[in-house]
Amino acid sequence: MLDIQKIRADFPILSQKVNGKPLVYFDNGATSQKPQVVIDAIAKYYQEINANIHRGVHTLSQLATDAYEVSRAKAQNHINAKFLHEVLFTSGTTFGINLVANGFASILKPGDEVLVSALEHHSNIVPWQMLCEKTGATLKVIPMNEKGELIISEYDKLLSPKTKIVTVNHISNALGTINPIKYMIDKAHEVGAAILIDGAQAVPHLKPDVQALDCDFYVFSGHKMCGPTGTGILYGKEAWLNKFPPYQGGGEMIKEVTFEKTTYADLPHKFEAGTPNIAGGIVLGTAIDYMNEIGFENIQKQELELLDYATKRLLEIDGLKIYGTSNLKTSVISFNIEGIHPYDIGTIIDKLGIAVRTGHHCAQPIMNFFNIPGTIRASFSFYNTKEEIDRMVDAVKKAQIMLS
Ligand code: PMP
Repeated sequence: MLDIQKIRADFPILSQKVNGKPLVYFDNGATSQKPQVVIDAIAKYYQEINANIHRGVHTLSQLATDAYEVSRAKAQNHINAKFLHEVLFTSGTTFGINLVANGFASILKPGDEVLVSALEHHSNIVPWQMLCEKTGATLKVIPMNEKGELIISEYDKLLSPKTKIVTVNHISNALGTINPIKYMIDKAHEVGAAILIDGAQAVPHLKPDVQALDCDFYVFSGHKMCGPTGTGILYGKEAWLNKFPPYQGGGEMIKEVTFEKTTYADLPHKFEAGTPNIAGGIVLGTAIDYMNEIGFENIQKQELELLDYATKRLLEIDGLKIYGTSNLKTSVISFNIEGIHPYDIGTIIDKLGIAVRTGHHCAQPIMNFFNIPGTIRASFSFYNTKEEIDRMVDAVKKAQIMLS
């Protein structure tokens, strides 16, 4: 059992007041809050070892390089990647997806197909559209049903030898649906396609095992799992990463440069041009340690309890509809109240100290599917409580009365 009050004391922001009211932070899907160990580690890096990495022979540069590489190894262990050089530091999920899409630009031909799911965040749609425009490949969409689940029988039908890459999120940010990625990975491989898993919304809740999954790429952001913004990991199978050209040219990614010809560094440095977010990369390791100390079994237990409780309590409200009703979902509730714009509810409950996300959640196709402008999204983390859910439900009821 988690001692939630003890855990909450790790997060200084949670004891703040917002608009004169104690903060209830239910926008964890957008970004998680940071524990004091993470905040302290950022200061410690700048106070004690700040230097550029992989460059100087001087002591600080070596300390910073070692810390950065230790963090890479923590990420490798965390996701169970086979090789350290398959783990690339990025600025986040968006960067990782763009890097992979760029890699396929030199591989795809007109007539090839890219499969994306109907449940994707814009950052897992737009780079593939850009890729298709560039290469003449065709984008195909795996459809969803009313519960916000992918229609897997349609996925099976869409797959063919023309499919070169499939891309799907592990967990939907807008609805919380957990997708059957192991099945999807195996099926993609049966037709010889590669598959990328967008793990942005999964890593705050679970520990992915990329070898057991056998996915070709797995991407995520650090800031959604207690780490700093501007950090992320792209896991890619060695064979794919070796096949791809570099994404950006610059310092650190080369073996030798002359004006006639440049040769590139080996993995992972081939994809890490320029000075990276050194502090962020190091502290991502601190965040990974923190999450593992809390324990993902404990995290899931607490979050599922919150999800059940909040679902029950919200459904007390007349005219409230929840979008995303799969049995397999994480601690995200997307909802609307009949006749009221989600933005209006969000604005009123913010005045009562409650932070939720309102809008299309960077997933406009999902909103179009349901024919709505957006939803109110409450996304819970292990540090949230049932009392906070009660406060949100009371606030939503108040807003409903004011707006009716
Ligand atoms: N994919 C999903 C499923 C997401 O939820 C997000 C962030 N909301 C992203 C991609 C993009 O992540 P980032 O903005 O950290 O690059």
